[in-house]
Amino acid sequence: MPRDYYEVLGVDRQSSESEIKKAFRRLARDLHPDVNRHDPDAESKFKQAAEAYEVLSDPDRRRTYDAFGHEGLRTGGWSPHTAGSMEDVLSSFFGGSDSLFADLFGGGRRGPAPGGDIGVEIEITLAEVLTGVAREVRFEAVSVCERCRGNGAEPGTPIRTCETCGGAGRVQQVRRTAFGQVVQTGACPACGGEGRLAEQPCERCDGPGREIRARTWDVDVPAGIESGQRIRISGAGHAGESGAPPGDLYVVVAVAEDERFERRGQDLVTVVHVPATMAMIGGRVTAPTLDGDREVAIPAGAQSGHAVTLDGLGLPSLRGTKRGAEHVLVDVVVPRKLSREQRKLAEQLHDSLGGD
Ligand SMILES: [Zn+2]
Ligand SMILES: [Zn+2]
Repeated sequence: MPRDYYEVLGVDRQSSESEIKKAFRRLARDLHPDVNRHDPDAESKFKQAAEAYEVLSDPDRRRTYDAFGHEGLRTGGWSPHTAGSMEDVLSSFFGGSDSLFADLFGGGRRGPAPGGDIGVEIEITLAEVLTGVAREVRFEAVSVCERCRGNGAEPGTPIRTCETCGGAGRVQQVRRTAFGQVVQTGACPACGGEGRLAEQPCERCDGPGREIRARTWDVDVPAGIESGQRIRISGAGHAGESGAPPGDLYVVVAVAEDERFERRGQDLVTVVHVPATMAMIGGRVTAPTLDGDREVAIPAGAQSGHAVTLDGLGLPSLRGTKRGAEHVLVDVVVPRKLSREQRKLAEQLHDSLGGD
């Protein structure tokens, strides 16, 4: 019978992700076979802890384990990384580019850093939601230096191979960690991972090959978009370090309030004020639509809140299906002041309708 994972890590079932990570870090320090050579069970304990951490640090697996235990994980097709030799276990946890080692002990980033993402907000009108619109957005981004084209050298000056790494861009570094000394491969500190060095740094960027520049981008905002939705433009974010990909640009769309309309998904709602007398006998009023003003027939006896639906005058969906509807809501308006003559007529009507 395998031991309970929470018990293995010495945490309770409500523990947060960071508490679980902390508990594993502590155990890993104590039990790592490079450090703990006296306890003959250290290796199997370390494997158990690694297996428990592998499950409890993954929200999906943790949920499965909480609900169905070890059996649930096995029937779900999961098997631990810790089944093989100690070398396999260590390389699965401490090897690779996004290794747990880097995660636990920090500073383990290998190679050049990718560029960051950029967010830009734009505001569009409801009329532009109807048709879609092309917008030019402006933002500042880390960009490849225009003078040296990213190589960091003053144009025309030589670039030599980095002596520190011999051009490989990577060096092995011996790090002292809680596990003792660990040999790690990382980006060369002298050349920043590029393998080459400028003899005379670029005058404009002073060497990194990148600079902050104002940029513009033409963004196609599709019809039917809603407030808060984002358009992702892959690769249009900050430039990465040499050899790493750029980040993305996110254009966040805000749809401006329009006092004439309330939006409900693909439908629009507008309110028309109808005089009480017209509400009694029926008539026609003008209602605004995104396609211009429309005459709307108000049926005799219309009450406040009565809706006249105009099909096809709402908004399209992002998928380009047919447009929604516009609902014209009747708001019956009672006159606040009457002339003597109007009052007499209203009294006559009142009596004719049966008084009370
Ligand atoms: Zn430059
Ligand atoms: Zn180097």
